[in-house]
Amino acid sequence: MKKKTIPYPKCYAKHLGNCDGKSAEHYISKSVLEVIGPIEVTGFPWLKQGTSKAISHNALTATVLCSNHNSALSSLDSEASKFINHLKLLDSKETASDLKLVPSKLVVDGLKLEKWLLKTLCGIMASGNFMIDGKGHGSVAIPEYFVDLLYKDDLWEAGIGLYVELSNRIRIDAFRGIGYDPVIVKSGTHATIVGIDIHFWGFPLRCLFAVPENVRSLEKYRPRGITVVNGSVTRKIIFAWPPTSFTSNPPIFTRTGTIFQNKTD
Ligand SMILES: [Zn+2]
Repeated sequence: MKKKTIPYPKCYAKHLGNCDGKSAEHYISKSVLEVIGPIEVTGFPWLKQGTSKAISHNALTATVLCSNHNSALSSLDSEASKFINHLKLLDSKETASDLKLVPSKLVVDGLKLEKWLLKTLCGIMASGNFMIDGKGHGSVAIPEYFVDLLYKDDLWEAGIGLYVELSNRIRIDAFRGIGYDPVIVKSGTHATIVGIDIHFWGFPLRCLFAVPENVRSLEKYRPRGITVVNGSVTRKIIFAWPPTSFTSNPPIFTRTGTIFQNKTD
C-alpha cells in the first residue's frame, strides 16, 4: 500500500490543489548556484548591514513548496542554468580571440526563463530573503495570481514578462556574479512587489508580473536576444518567443572591462 503523505500546508501553490509532502528547495535553483560557484552574499535581511559572508549553497534553501509543486518546475531550472552558464562563459572571455571559442549562438526558451525568474521571486518573497529600502520585511504571501502565471500554460498579457533593463542598476544582494532586487510599486506607505531585477555578471534583466501603469512603451520587452561584441567577434544568445508575441530589438554589449557595458546606455 502506498504510504500517505501529509500535504505541506505552507506550499505557496496550494490553491492549485494536489499538494504533496514538503520539499527543501533552493530559492535560487541549486543548478544555477552550481554554475555561479562559491558565493559571498551581502544585503540579506539576516546579515548585519554592510557586512558580507561566504555561505554554502545549502544556506539558500527554504521550504516554500511541496515536492509536487517543486518538481513541476524543474525544467525551468535547467533552462535558467543553461542560460547563466553561457553568460558566465561569455564573461570569462577577455579577448576577441578567446570569445571566438564560444559557440556563435545559444537559443534560450524565453518563456521558461521568465517563469524561472518568477519562481525565484516567489522563493525570495515566501522565504523573506529580500529587502525594500534597506529593510527586511519577513516572508510575504505570494499572490495567487503569481502562482497561476507560474503554473498555468496561458499566454501572459503583453507587458508582463522579460525586459533588458539598463537604467537603475541597483544591487542589494550582490553575489559573486548575481544580484537581485524586488521591483516595487509604491502607493502612499504601501509597497507592492510587481517584479524582479536580477543581474548575472552585469547583464541586467527585469521581469514584471503586472503591467505597470507608467509603462510608456514595450521598447525593452521580450528582447530577441543579447549580442556580445569584442573587437570583430560577435556572439549571440537568442531568446525564443511564441510567434504572436511582441518582441524588441536585442541590446548589444561591448566588453570594456571585467563586466560588459551596454553600448546604447
Ligand atoms: Zn503544493
